[in-house]
Parts: sequence; structure tokens; C-alpha cells
Amino acid sequence: AQARAAHAQRMQALGQLAGGIAHDFNNVLQAVQSGAEMIEMCCEEPETVQEFDRIVLDSAQRGMAITRRLLAFSRRGDLRAKPIDPVRLLDSMRDILAQTLGSPIAVRIETPPGLPAVMADRGQLETVLVNLATNARDAMPDGGALTLGAMPEDVRADAVHGMGLRPGRYVRLSIADTGTGMDPETLGRAMEPFFTTKSREHGTGLGLSMAKGFAEQSGGTLEIESAPGRGTIVTLWLPAADARTEAASEQTGPAPASGR
Ligand code: ADP
Repeated sequence: AQARAAHAQRMQALGQLAGGIAHDFNNVLQAVQSGAEMIEMCCEEPETVQEFDRIVLDSAQRGMAITRRLLAFSRRGDLRAKPIDPVRLLDSMRDILAQTLGSPIAVRIETPPGLPAVMADRGQLETVLVNLATNARDAMPDGGALTLGAMPEDVRADAVHGMGLRPGRYVRLSIADTGTGMDPETLGRAMEPFFTTKSREHGTGLGLSMAKGFAEQSGGTLEIESAPGRGTIVTLWLPAADARTEAASEQTGPAPASGR
């Protein structure tokens, strides 16, 4: 019954997602259509044509961004999991993250030696980290610090984690900001698809739900700790690359429904 309830909840979330995507997509297509119409009408004026051409191109890009988000969220998203060294990944992303955050925000990376590789789709993981960094930036309008961390963690079969994780070795990738934090109500709803406290131009409400979907599809989970005025820590639990085969061979009970 619990599995059925979870499934129903997921279907509801997907239905909500599909509705919102259809709405966003329709707006994009409308912009493409009117841009193209204007180009047709103004074909004698090169400057106007260029202006509307920009609108068409921008809209096409927005449309593609929407589809990418949808793919990332849905189960059919093309996940190609491969072992990734978390230290190298975070180091390689330092520049892009610093750029995403802007200058008044310092980026720190804290990783212990000897971390295992994680099993995940690299492209999607990078997208998720950039999205999380964007949230951190929005929460720190007056500057602050962003700390990226990675820690190994063993989930034992007898441990009461209540997170639906299979026993095995994981790496917790965390993104901590010193921003506004969330009140309990916002925190309770933050991972819902389309939940946003931002304006329509700034927020889609998909960043955290997408991050959660990605973590779960990868065999991990997403955790958020936050308090008003204290900042936020978002933690992605990802399975260690070596633990995956161990977990599969020692598996004792039915695996949590993951479709893979
Ligand atoms: P969006 O960023 O488009 O609003 P998300 O799903 O990423 O969508 O986030 C949902 C909401 O959770 C945000 O609107 C914001 O209220 C809150 N939130 C997310 N990340 C943070 C953060 N790092 N600090 C404070 N609030 C956050």
C-alpha cells in the first residue's frame, strides 16, 4: 500500500510537472510564432528583422532548456552513470561555480583525502550542482560564502536511516551557503515540483525537485538542512562506484523501487 501511495504521489507530481511544462512551452512557442510573423512583416527593415530574429533564437534556447529539465526529471532521462572522482569534479567546476555566483561570494572546496569515486551521470551532476549554486547565489544577495564538500559515509543494513537507501558506501556531496535560509514551511515544500518563492522570471521551482529526482535515479537521495538567517546545506547522497556491485551481490531483501 505504501509503494502504491508513493507511486500515486509521483504520478501526481509528474502530472503537475507536465502541466507546468506544457504551459511554459506554449509561451515559448508563442514567442517564436510572433517573432517569425514580425520578421515576415518587417523583412524590408534589417534592424527590426535582427531584433525579432533574436527573439526567435532566444525562445528556441529557452524551449530547449525546458526540455532538458523535463528529461532530467523524468525517469526516461538518459542517465549514463560512470565512476566520477568527486575531488576532480569539484575542482573542475570551481570556475564555473564562481562565475555563477558572482564576485561577492567566495567558493571553498573541502574534501578529505582518499574519497571513493561516485557512480553518476556526469553531465546531469554538473547541471544539478550549477542549479544548487544558483539557489545559493539567490539566497546571498549581499554576498557570503559557498562551501562545497564531499564526505564518505557507510550506510549499514541495521542502521535506521529512514531515507530509503540501500546498505553500502556513499559519498555525501554538500553545498552549503551562508544565505537567508528557509523557514520551516518553505523547507517543507522546497522539493515539490514548481514550488518557488521567486518571481516567474527568476524561478521555475524545478531546481530542487530535479536534484532530488537525479539523486534518487542515481541510487542516492537528497537532504536539505536550513534555518532562517543560518543558511542552507543541500546534501546529495550518491553511491560510491565500488559499493554498487557489492550492494548488488549481497542484496538480502527486495531493492527499493528504482526501475533500474
Ligand atoms: P527555484 O530556485 O526556481 O525557486 P527550486 O526548486 O530550486 O526552485 O527551489 C525552491 C525554493 O526553495 C526556492 O524558491 C527558495 O524559496 C527555496 N530555496 C532553494 N534553495 C535555497 C537556498 N540555498 N537558500 C534559501 N532558500 C532556498
